[in-house]
Amino acid sequence: MKIAVASGKGGTGKTTVATAVALTLKKGVFLDADVEEPDAHIFLKPEMKKTHSVPIMIPRVDYSKCDFCGECAKACAYNAIAVVPGKVLIFDEVCKGCGTCTIACPQRAIYEIPREIGVINEGTANNGAIHFFEGKLNIGESATTYLIRELKKFADTNEDVVIDAPPGTSCPMLEATKSVDFVILVAEPTPFGVYDLNLSLQALKDTGIKMGIVVNKYGIGNDDVFRLAEKHDVPVLMKIPFDRGLAAAYSMGTPLTEAKPEMIPEIEAMIERIKSIAGGAA
Ligand code: SF4
Ligand code: SF4
Repeated sequence: MKIAVASGKGGTGKTTVATAVALTLKKGVFLDADVEEPDAHIFLKPEMKKTHSVPIMIPRVDYSKCDFCGECAKACAYNAIAVVPGKVLIFDEVCKGCGTCTIACPQRAIYEIPREIGVINEGTANNGAIHFFEGKLNIGESATTYLIRELKKFADTNEDVVIDAPPGTSCPMLEATKSVDFVILVAEPTPFGVYDLNLSLQALKDTGIKMGIVVNKYGIGNDDVFRLAEKHDVPVLMKIPFDRGLAAAYSMGTPLTEAKPEMIPEIEAMIERIKSIAGGAA
């Protein structure tokens, strides 16, 4: 079973829930797909074994063939290439490595070279039982979705997989949750939390992926989050009570399963419910 954990914004407890699910499952594969700010390693404390470089292929121009026709710039949907008199300007950090300009060039003047946009760190956690992968985008890079796609190749396994998705509702989150069996949406019961949860539910509803909600910091705010869940017919799977002690534990890298071991049966029950909703078995 592949479970992604997402949230409409950062700081809602998404990584807390993802790591708690992984540690309750005890074994399997964990992917930290929050590639701009991966922090699951703080809770899972993996022993890192390898680093895989992730390059994209970016264009370069053979000026002996180029006639400055401008077709490459017209074809680029990301404005990563511009043609000025006597020069083709390529903005490497904006380039997504899609190869469209290479195909569009009538003179076959474009060739491609590799450029690293980030890395995937690989290791093991929970005494070797959890295979841990963490995507890390290089600073200033924009090919977030590409790196997540490369990271998700490690989800191609028969083991249980937990994916810590990037926050928000745009392409990186949709890429991280694509083709999973279930998405856990983590939300706080505050007006902002409800607003962001609504955006996440809207973004995912057309994918047909089964979803459930974990309410974090239960006890603050009001009941709007439950009303929204009911309106969308999405079950609330678990509530994590608001607790200052928990916040202090997280700040020291203590996972939920250690900070509040009495919640483990609830997490186990949530996983069983997810399996029955998604119709898959581990
Ligand atoms: S499409 Fe090819 S020939 Fe035309 S400007 Fe771009 S690189 Fe040069
Ligand atoms: S590879 Fe794609 S994104 Fe990069 S310059 Fe060419 S068309 Fe634009």
